[in-house]
Amino acid sequence: MPVQQLSRTTIGTPITSLEMRIAFEEGYLIPFRKNLPEDPKTADQLINVDKGGLSFRPLTGVYENVAEFDFFSMYPSIIASYNLSYETINCKHPECTTKLPTNYRVCTKKEGIVPKALKFLLNRRIYYKKALKQVQPEKKAILDRRQKGLKWLLVVSFGYLGYKNAVFGRIESHETTTAIGRQLLLFVKEIVEAKGFRLIHALTDAVWIYRKGATEKDYRLLEKYLNKRLREKFEGVNKNHLDFKILLEGVFDWIVFLPSKQDGIGVPNRFYGKFRNGEIKVRGLEIRRKDTPEFIKMFQTEILERLKKAKNKKEFLEKISETEEILKKYQEKLKNGEFNIFQLIVKKKVSKEVNQYRTKTDISDSAGTLLKEGIKVNPGERINILYVKNELIKGMPLEIYINFPQPLDLEKYLKMLEDSYWSFIWHKNSDKFQIFEG
Ligand SMILES: [Zn+2]
Repeated sequence: MPVQQLSRTTIGTPITSLEMRIAFEEGYLIPFRKNLPEDPKTADQLINVDKGGLSFRPLTGVYENVAEFDFFSMYPSIIASYNLSYETINCKHPECTTKLPTNYRVCTKKEGIVPKALKFLLNRRIYYKKALKQVQPEKKAILDRRQKGLKWLLVVSFGYLGYKNAVFGRIESHETTTAIGRQLLLFVKEIVEAKGFRLIHALTDAVWIYRKGATEKDYRLLEKYLNKRLREKFEGVNKNHLDFKILLEGVFDWIVFLPSKQDGIGVPNRFYGKFRNGEIKVRGLEIRRKDTPEFIKMFQTEILERLKKAKNKKEFLEKISETEEILKKYQEKLKNGEFNIFQLIVKKKVSKEVNQYRTKTDISDSAGTLLKEGIKVNPGERINILYVKNELIKGMPLEIYINFPQPLDLEKYLKMLEDSYWSFIWHKNSDKFQIFEG
């Protein structure tokens, strides 16, 4: 697919294009419109296979010296190793009797179209990953972008397996991929625990583990051992399969796993921490969300920058109390009107037509106001909303505000700021908070 064309398509198009090319080269007749309904399943079968990735609820708290291990392109590696494709599951050859963990048969005579396409992408990604270690620093950025681009293509191609309109998609191969993924993750859990480490969290293709006093060298040795055991245990169905690889992503000086605001139980995708190399990793905080206003992003960035200086759990807890001055500073700035309008807008997505909203919300009010002015906002589009001191409306669109400025709802903005501070100080008000000692 030419780059010009590629720049205007969604990511699924080049994936399908790559698969089509392989199918064409192998002499397959490609249906113009696919018509392969899902095979009927019993409720029992559905409960067993329709599960998705494995995610744990982490033990909430602040930890130090935790290591994160990630599988290298886990799902694509499974697809390639187990030959999971549109035409290989329950194939027509009587001699293909190998069964998958989901109980479907799989072809062992011919390599599938999807595995072939993914192997091509996987091998290129491995190539760039290796090259990254050998090139001069100025070339690193380019190679890193290439391997990241390939990473996302690979991630999406897994999703495409389960997408009914994808030409080479097939739900059974999607189900099998996640089933094997769950086995891999549980296998890793058993091994690390047998080796005296504690599993703090596991999420789809990553694990966070800890052992008191463990050094980076200990984690490196564990990485080696894990890969050896994975090689022995998971052979796939291909003779020339790819080995599963699990890699030490890094060791955290400190990491915080947050609970849900409602019930105080750990949430799979809500944490932040600092790797030993200084890099901060954040998931599930406001700073990562698209609808978060700029002033809150600035606030959380400043806090994380401050916390970055902490080298262990103890220093982290000290730095946390220092962040109160940052909160005060932002409160003052809000009160003094030091943020401009663009830093205060909340970009919210409209999910339905204006008249379909049953209750009055900031979105329905803003979309309604725009409609009165002749601007129709379609479901899926975002509106820039401002909160004003006006009891009649819950929110005002930026376009109208610019022409008719009104005093802003300071209380609301202060509350948003305070809410976004919760992730940093929740432990002060929680009896569930634990400082893990191993
Ligand atoms: Zn076969």
